[in-house]
Amino acid sequence: MSAQVIDGLAVAAKLRKQIAVDAATFAEQYGRPPGLATILIGDDPASAVYVASKQRACAAAGIEGFSFNLPADATREQAIATIEEANANPAISGIICQLPVPHHLDGVELTGLVDPLKDVDGLTTTSAGLLALGRPGLRPCTPRGVLMLLDEVGVELEGAEAVVIGRSNLFGKPMGQLLLERSATVTICHSRTKDLAATCARADVLIAAVGRARMVEANFVKAGAVVIDVGINRVDGALCGDVDFEAVSEVASAITPVPGGVGPMTIACLLDNTVIAARMAAEQA
Ligand code: NAP
Repeated sequence: MSAQVIDGLAVAAKLRKQIAVDAATFAEQYGRPPGLATILIGDDPASAVYVASKQRACAAAGIEGFSFNLPADATREQAIATIEEANANPAISGIICQLPVPHHLDGVELTGLVDPLKDVDGLTTTSAGLLALGRPGLRPCTPRGVLMLLDEVGVELEGAEAVVIGRSNLFGKPMGQLLLERSATVTICHSRTKDLAATCARADVLIAAVGRARMVEANFVKAGAVVIDVGINRVDGALCGDVDFEAVSEVASAITPVPGGVGPMTIACLLDNTVIAARMAAEQA
């Protein structure tokens, strides 16, 4: 078997077109565009690249970008004041605090200070609680993007065995909850899981978010399973995922590549969450 390659770039491009339409409709209705604030603390080069690409994506979608850049030695008080300033600005519909923050600051504390109505990363305790309770709210971008890719290829999630490798707050846990919401039977694996390969081999849908290059090999995958690779690893200067793409493509029915799979969906969902947040706030005002 040679698996269908799920083209995340194409799906994200389609979504971004729709977001541009939605952002323009919002701007027409309320006399201002949705706005996204990025808060970058320090000079981590990878974070600077991510923030710049988010700001470019905003501009292309008709979302106004607001950049808050603080030096690496910014104090906790300065960081909190910046988040409070963004919370208070009605032109800002969504806020992301780029992680990781410098070691002397607490990223969980800072992201937790974002107004839940502007929590477009879906990482505050309020957003996590709403997801856990199955109530409407802003959902984390990468798990949302994965769900959209599964829908795009027509995967029937109801009753499906779904296995997620990784239990982070950023991805694994919310992914499991979103799958549960769609009535999949969900198993979440982690570093203490016994016989990982056998557990994964039960999956109709296998999602890997570990950060270990090509750890998911062909024997982890049931014939015909759909495999989603969230991992981003750099090996010999090239990007690769957590899945051995070549070997697993021979067993799976569909698979996401790295790059060009889940990654583009994350930014598209961030933009989408920003428009959703803008609308929620405007309708509540
Ligand atoms: P993380 O917080 O480091 O979590 C990694 C998870 O993998 C943990 O739950 C860990 O288990 C588990 N794990 C580690 N070694 C394992 C092993 N040998 N067997 C089974 N499980 C193992 O990472 P994350 O933030 O969730 O990100 C995971 C990967 O996804 C990274 O490569 C990251 O760059 C990528 N990512 C990509 C996007 C995107 O937009 N494409 C977005 C987010 C993340 P324990 O909990 O037991 O330690």
